[in-house]
Amino acid sequence: MTNCLFCKIVAKKIPAKIAYEDDKVLAFHDIGPQAPVHILIIPKKHISSISDLSGQDCEIMGYLHLIAKKLAKEYKIEKSGFRLVINNGADAGQAVSHIHLHMLGGRKLQWPPG
Ligand code: AMP
Ligand code: ZN
Repeated sequence: MTNCLFCKIVAKKIPAKIAYEDDKVLAFHDIGPQAPVHILIIPKKHISSISDLSGQDCEIMGYLHLIAKKLAKEYKIEKSGFRLVINNGADAGQAVSHIHLHMLGGRKLQWPPG
């Protein structure tokens, strides 16, 4: 999608610190990290939000989690723990309308979230 920030990152029109890439997925460090490890894991295909998912997206949504597991190991947070978050819509504070899995770790995280 031409006017989407994360599609522009996928297309390398906007730079990002890439943590992982393959033909289906891109993972990059959040520009405003909320934890020592804060990586965004996104499908290369544009999907706006959880509310826009279709049955065809089941595989990619599962795959994002497999990449999270791999990155957790790589960034040494798989034993200490980490949180995966998808914000959906205004009340959740979704700012970018291209679905993304936040992976947060490297510090004790509060619960419930604000
Ligand atoms: P959300 O509020 O769930 O939509 O999350 C959007 C996230 O994207 C925020 O945590 C931002 O800090 C992050 N973000 C915005 N622009 C960029 C960028 N150019 N590179 C990396 N992360 C970004
Ligand atoms: Zn997009």
